[in-house]
Amino acid sequence: MKLTSKTDDLKALDQAHHLHPFTNFQEYASEGGRIISKAEHIYIFDSDGNKMLDGMSGLWCCNLGYSQNEIINSVYQQLKELPYYNNFFKCSNQPAVELAKLLVDAAPSGFNHVFFTNSGSEANDTNIRLVHRYYDLLGKPNKKAFISRKNAYHGSTIAAASLGGMSAMHKQARGLDYVYHITQPYWFELGGEQDPDSFGRSAALELEKKIDEIGEENVAAFIAEPIQGAGGVIVPPESYWPEMQRICNERDIILISDEVICGFGRTGKWFGSETYQLKPQLMTFAKAITNGYMPLGGVLIKDEIAEVLLSGGGEFAHGLTYSGHPASCAAGLATLNILMETQIIEKTALQIAPHFQARLAEFKDHPIVGEVRGKGMFAAVELVGDKNSRERLAPESAGAIYCRDRANANGLMVRQTGDAMIMAPPLICSISEIDILIEKFGTALDETAKFFEIS
Ligand SMILES: *Cc1c(COP(=O)(O)O)cnc(C)c1O
Repeated sequence: MKLTSKTDDLKALDQAHHLHPFTNFQEYASEGGRIISKAEHIYIFDSDGNKMLDGMSGLWCCNLGYSQNEIINSVYQQLKELPYYNNFFKCSNQPAVELAKLLVDAAPSGFNHVFFTNSGSEANDTNIRLVHRYYDLLGKPNKKAFISRKNAYHGSTIAAASLGGMSAMHKQARGLDYVYHITQPYWFELGGEQDPDSFGRSAALELEKKIDEIGEENVAAFIAEPIQGAGGVIVPPESYWPEMQRICNERDIILISDEVICGFGRTGKWFGSETYQLKPQLMTFAKAITNGYMPLGGVLIKDEIAEVLLSGGGEFAHGLTYSGHPASCAAGLATLNILMETQIIEKTALQIAPHFQARLAEFKDHPIVGEVRGKGMFAAVELVGDKNSRERLAPESAGAIYCRDRANANGLMVRQTGDAMIMAPPLICSISEIDILIEKFGTALDETAKFFEIS
């Protein structure tokens, strides 16, 4: 192995020793990747000197970009003051307390309790624990089943992967036998001849059918992302959520809104459930809660659930060494303070997001674009080889993968999921930065059309 530069050294060591998440190990060991070496504002830089506009906010978490000194300083100050103590054995710490209070203030009314974890996956595991405990205390121990949706993403621990609906993950991890999956409201892929609204209603009715099939007395909860993120930014038809909410109201089941991506402004309001006027009893959060700077997740719990949990005797036998970690909570506190003081969520929803969505919608007439969908600073562009038949550009998402590679080469970090190009730019983008993103994306689309000879 001949090493020629520090970057080459790093890359070689990375390939030799570092197993990456959601990565084809064999491919990575031979081809390697990109070392991200620094970041500023909405730009990331790699060790080969490339600069890229980050159209994904990291992994949907750096909603305020990379240069938030207040978050960085508050983590540093906290590490000096109290770098660690646990929240077991009747102990607490100031940042955890203050963050719990601020989250309760930010959440819709009736959410007055928080349980902290380190990640979204652990928060969804915690949901299962909380819900099972809740029904046990109510004297309904048979209510154990969870209903979720195909192509949902709820994390990658065994329980979270099981709650999720990713078939590739299910193939590699034997799931929980009390989790059931119904269809997803993915009109472009599954809607066929139906118009979006009637498709949305019929997708929703599957929840009712599944509850009847399992027996309402056995069903504990339904969990969903208001808009599926990792699944491909699946914005449901407008008819879908009202019908789902009706079913949840009529049935004795808990609605869990997984806000790990939708939370903290992504869809235009503080929580995705507010965008769709949902009334969940539990909300999962992670990612943007610390602007991605420190690991932190958790569950917000509505009063009707909390009252039962608080009334039960005996301990809740669940917790993590780092539940309510002071430095992570300090990062969360600083992030929420920025969101509240600058009103960036409200301002972006008013000015930047409509511009982003309008500019993206201009691509509807592009020869390889089948659909543009989005909400707030969250969007997907479906690539096709034939606009009418919706036939894809190439098998195995090769069209979207090519488009992503072109965008990356042109200095834009975007992702591909299936045949959809997906985007979640930082909320702090300016109008002109959105225009740069659009221009780079347009170039990638043109290059893809040219490569696949579509005009
Ligand atoms: C990322 C994600 C998770 C998992 O969070 P981790 O912090 O990666 O464990 C859960 N739910 C949704 C909706 C997510 O996007």
